[in-house]
Amino acid sequence: MRVVIERLSKTYGDRSGKSVEALQSIDLGVEEEEFLAIVGPSGCGKSTLLNIIAGLLAPSEGGVFFEGLRDGWHPPTAMVFQEFALFPWRTVLGNIEFGLEERGVAAEERHARAMRLVELVGLVGFEERYPNQLSGGMRQRVGIARALAVEPAVLLMDEPFSALDAQTRQLLQVELLAIWERTRKTILYVTHNIQEAVFMADRVAVLSRRPGRLIAIVPVELGRPRREAMLGDARFLHTVDLIWGLIKADAQQALAEGGS
Ligand code: ADP
Ligand code: MG
Repeated sequence: MRVVIERLSKTYGDRSGKSVEALQSIDLGVEEEEFLAIVGPSGCGKSTLLNIIAGLLAPSEGGVFFEGLRDGWHPPTAMVFQEFALFPWRTVLGNIEFGLEERGVAAEERHARAMRLVELVGLVGFEERYPNQLSGGMRQRVGIARALAVEPAVLLMDEPFSALDAQTRQLLQVELLAIWERTRKTILYVTHNIQEAVFMADRVAVLSRRPGRLIAIVPVELGRPRREAMLGDARFLHTVDLIWGLIKADAQQALAEGGS
């Protein structure tokens, strides 16, 4: 589903009257079936942006529109967080079925759908395990399966692999891409890791320091499927450098203006 973000701003207020401007006038269109990465320094409003798109948080100005839906309608979205946020008292299957139970899907259908997802994320044989019996990488596979279970129109991922070791992260990046090729969701993938963003995405949206503004949208000219060997590709390195340059220039500008 195509997502249009229009003049979106968010200012957090607190009771003492102090306010934090987190996002400033973001305009961004995300195409149907696109894998869009969002990068930017810590605290620039990336999680805020995802939370607004998910409908968990109201914008201060502007809005998010889902093409083909009436204004104000919100399609199912699903979020995958950095902390795996699984229910420890539920098995792998129980975690994946959770959203389906909430939606009143019948037990048999739930089970069948969850089993298909177990297969999709490579957890066959682990259905009855509990989260504390799984590695971090496996837990995050459950997180992905649980998010996909509700058949979201848009999958929102907030630094999903940043708590994993480098090898597991690389493995899951490739697997997530394979899952995306098979399910063709629109994915918004937040990361502060530029290499990761370029490796995975069709385009990379680059946010400035807080308040987050959209500095650039950088297309990634790498073929698909993406392979690890592409990490050495000249186009890969060039795109990473380009984004680095944009973020550094923004940081230097803040210094020149006497910011922090
Ligand atoms: P990022 O995910 O890019 O690190 P966040 O979206 O989490 O950034 O936060 C952006 C800014 O908004 C930060 O300065 C953060 O401290 C502030 N912020 C986030 N959530 C709240 C909140 N509920 N109340 C007040 N300020 C917040
Ligand atoms: Mg964040």
